[in-house]
This record gives sequence, structure tokens and C-alpha cells, in this order.
Amino acid sequence: MVDLKRQYQNIKTEVDEAILNVLSSTAFINGPEVKSFATELASYLGVKHVIPCANGTDALQIALMALGLQPGDEVITPSFTYIATVEVVALLRLKPVFVDVDADTFTMNIESVKKAITDKTKAIIPVHLYGQCVDMEPLLALAKEKNIPIIEDNAQAIGGTYTFADGTKKKTGAMGTIGCTSFFPSKNLGCYGDGGAMFTNDDALAEKLSMIANHGQKVRYYHEMVGCNSRLDSIQAAVLRIKLRKLDEYCDARRAAADYYDLAFKNNSNIITPYRAPYSWHVFHQYTLQVKVNRDKVQEMLAEKGIPSMIYYPVSSHKQEMLKDFGGASYDLPTTDFLNTCVISLPIHTELTQEELKYISDNVNQIIDQLSK
Ligand SMILES: *Cc1c(COP(=O)(O)O)cnc(C)c1O
Repeated sequence: MVDLKRQYQNIKTEVDEAILNVLSSTAFINGPEVKSFATELASYLGVKHVIPCANGTDALQIALMALGLQPGDEVITPSFTYIATVEVVALLRLKPVFVDVDADTFTMNIESVKKAITDKTKAIIPVHLYGQCVDMEPLLALAKEKNIPIIEDNAQAIGGTYTFADGTKKKTGAMGTIGCTSFFPSKNLGCYGDGGAMFTNDDALAEKLSMIANHGQKVRYYHEMVGCNSRLDSIQAAVLRIKLRKLDEYCDARRAAADYYDLAFKNNSNIITPYRAPYSWHVFHQYTLQVKVNRDKVQEMLAEKGIPSMIYYPVSSHKQEMLKDFGGASYDLPTTDFLNTCVISLPIHTELTQEELKYISDNVNQIIDQLSK
């Protein structure tokens, strides 16, 4: 699905040197690389504070902890997302409240959010799924009116942009009360291990986030609140500094691959290609089709041709055993349920060649034509 080896080969000299520098400095934890990376990422995103942490799941958990939510408080999230978004809500004994997604953007439906808000709603987590930004303007207006904080799950969309009606542009992750991301290797900005970060423009919240990520302490050995241990290490930060400088180029390469696929599938009536919302600069973490033929058969036949594909996600959160106390039959999320049956993601990354794109798309078209007969 991704070719990290080829990407590494193209930046090997720089990366190897940066890693060797960390090794000889032995500042493995909280070294200068971590601080520099946080500053550079804050400037890229246009936010005041970036607080690095150990992974994207921790980022979401720490964000919820910093908002001071109490057990039983409700948190609105889409069900159609990676489980981490919802798992942390349940872990903190908060109550996930699921909303449906839009059939074209695959992101949370704002009208459904409006209907799901109660007196107990204490946070909303929009997920910028597959690299597409949620329609933030109406969501931000709604959250402001109801005084509910927004935590953006930006794990799949770093580098993306949202355009407001007046033409103002903001980076994904930089619009909510707190933005969260993951630097898992296959993400758009990935390191060579685990990593994550939180973003905010709120000084007090920034301090709280960094305290929680560091055992609730500001001054060493004086622990003011229950926190956890969640750190980005210096080697990962050194790699991320190099890759951050290439992030826009990487997003463009993903978009170019998506352009190729779009054109290749344009005339196939059994394929729906990803919609690009006019307000969203889509950074194609995933290139996800909806197919009108037996999807599992498509996947099987692609595998026979040596083409990997993935189903993100075969089961949505509200139907997961893990969350049985919060979901199941009490929910009616028709678009979410439908997408589970028909989505299929094709390889997309920064190093795809024209030959590879042609091989993949020719085969996808042939297989789907064959299955539709
Ligand atoms: C990857 C991902 C996460 C979790 O990130 P990790 O670094 O793997 O913990 C959270 N939310 C979404 C939408 C993701 O894709």
C-alpha cells in the first residue's frame, strides 16, 4: 500500500546523517531535535503550540484528559473511523455518541452532529478521514454556539487545508480547540517508529497537555495531576524534521497519483472515485473507491495480480465488540453501514510510478468489468 523503502532511499543521506547526529549527542529523550521539530511544525501549521507525544492514540487521549471531562460525559464522533478515535473515549469512561458520515466525503455529517448534541456533550471529534478535511466552518460555528470544544483527529490529513467561505485558509488540525496527529510510518508525515503530537493556540491548554504527557509535572518530581508517560524520541524528531520539509511535495505526489486514478476510472460506471469537497485540499492519505460489484472478489482478484488493497474499514466503531456497551442496534447509521460493504483502498504513496499506476488501474478496470457481467 505504501513504499517506505523507496522514499527512504531518496532521503537516505540526510536521514542517516541526522540519526547519527542524535546517536553521538546521546540526547535520546527531549533533546534539541524534539524542540526544533515542535517549533517547525507549529510554524508549518500556523498554530501557537505543538506538543509532541508517543503516538496518535495518546494524543487523542491526552487531549480528552486536558479538557477535564468527567465519566459519563458525551463525546460525539463518527463511527466510520479508525478505532483509536473512539477507543480513547471509552478508555476514559466517557460515552462515545456516534454520528453518520456523508456518502460523498466520508466525513462526519454536520446535521447529525447538531441532532446528537445534548446537555452532556462535552467534546466533538471530527476525523479528517483519508486526507479529506471535514466541513469545519459550520461545525466550528455550531461548537461555538453550544460552547463545546473540538478535538480534530488529523492523523490522516496532515498537510491538508480547509478554505472558509471568505477565502481564508487554515491547515487541518489548526482549527479546533486541540488538533491531534500520528506520525506512524505510513501516515502522510510518518517517522521510523511511533510518534504523535497535539496542537493548540490556547496557552493554558498547551501547558496542561504537556504536563499530562509528562506525569502531570511542570517542575520535576512535583506532580500536580494524573498524567501519563508519552514522549516523542529524538531520533524520530530528527527524521520528522527532514520529512516535514518535504510534506507539501509528498502531498502533491499523492494528489498526482489520485489524479491519475481519477482519470483512469472516469468512464467506469461501476466505480465511484473519491469526491473532492471544494473547501478541502485533499491530501489522499488513502485513495478509496466505492465499487458496485462484489468488493471482496475485487480484492481477491487484485491480490492474484500482485496488487495490494485494503478495506478501511470493514466494521465501524458502533458495531465493534469492544464498544458493545455504547453502540450496536441502538444506532441507525445507514451511510456508515453501506460504506463498510463497498469501499476499497488502492495503493497510494509518494513514489508511485506511471507504470505502476497504469498496471494497477488497468487491472482494477478489467476486474470490475469482468465482475459486472
Ligand atoms: C492512525 C490513526 C490514529 C492513531 O494513531 P497511532 O499513532 O497509530 O496511535 C488515530 N486516528 C486515526 C484516524 C488514525 O488513522
